[in-house]
Amino acid sequence: MKIFKTRREFQAHSLELKKSGKSIALVPTMGFLHDGHMSLIDIARKKADVVMVSIFVNPTQFAPNEDFDRYPRDFDGDVAKCIDHGADVIFAPETGEMYDENSSCWVEEVSLSKPLCGRSRPTFYRGVTTVVTKLFHLAQPDYAVFGLKDAQQCFVIEKMVKDLDFPIEIIPAPLVRDADGLALSSRNRYLSADERSRALSIHRALLGAKAEIIADHSVMDAALLRAKAGIESAGGKVDYVDILDCDTMAYPGEKTKRVIVAAAAFFGTTRLIDNEIFEF
Ligand code: AMP
Repeated sequence: MKIFKTRREFQAHSLELKKSGKSIALVPTMGFLHDGHMSLIDIARKKADVVMVSIFVNPTQFAPNEDFDRYPRDFDGDVAKCIDHGADVIFAPETGEMYDENSSCWVEEVSLSKPLCGRSRPTFYRGVTTVVTKLFHLAQPDYAVFGLKDAQQCFVIEKMVKDLDFPIEIIPAPLVRDADGLALSSRNRYLSADERSRALSIHRALLGAKAEIIADHSVMDAALLRAKAGIESAGGKVDYVDILDCDTMAYPGEKTKRVIVAAAAFFGTTRLIDNEIFEF
């Protein structure tokens, strides 16, 4: 296992690997790794000769009032898990290493990134697409694995890769849940036991809405309102509960094939997101 802390050394290593004909799969993360992240590393391991995991809490995707400073970190634990799952390289730059002080370029997707999390976190996806572009240039991957826990992020990255001709295959990975249904997230660490059990309402609400919508599309809006009420009655402060066409990220229409029902809600000060994706 090789660990790189600087952009220069990491990119030099990636370019050497490319020159020697190795295929590379990248798993970008913000660390504090859990079984969701591990499932991505396992997928990457099956795809490529070399598996790279980046661990970087990216400041440009956090707004000033968000949790950048207290985002959970456990570098030694992360390294052990990466070794356990057969990763070859970790790239873990310090905050100040990743961006030049006078950096003035952004990569921005301006369509799929607008609804859902893009509405309540208007600078979030610009930070994501910019840092992922940098990671792609540094890691030189043939494949990059992204989890459908953050489905909108995955769609935005797929669009970016297509529109900007990155020679990279994006591999979407299924959302991993705890046994009781809570979507695994590094932020679950913030939840008290009581908040955690109330947060189970998010997935219950999404499953309820999904069942209603599959049975009858015409009840879509009412089903979303019922889902929202379900989360609120468990004490959650709902940011959104919405249904969108997965391809266009617009309200589903006659041509829609696949939809995402997604929710974001606060339990205490912790913002959680979850989704269900299904044929329409
Ligand atoms: P993060 O460290 O939260 O930025 O996540 C890094 C990657 O892991 C992203 O592609 C996420 O979508 C993915 N991921 C996080 N949680 C899960 C999960 N519960 N199931 C599947 N993928 C996940």
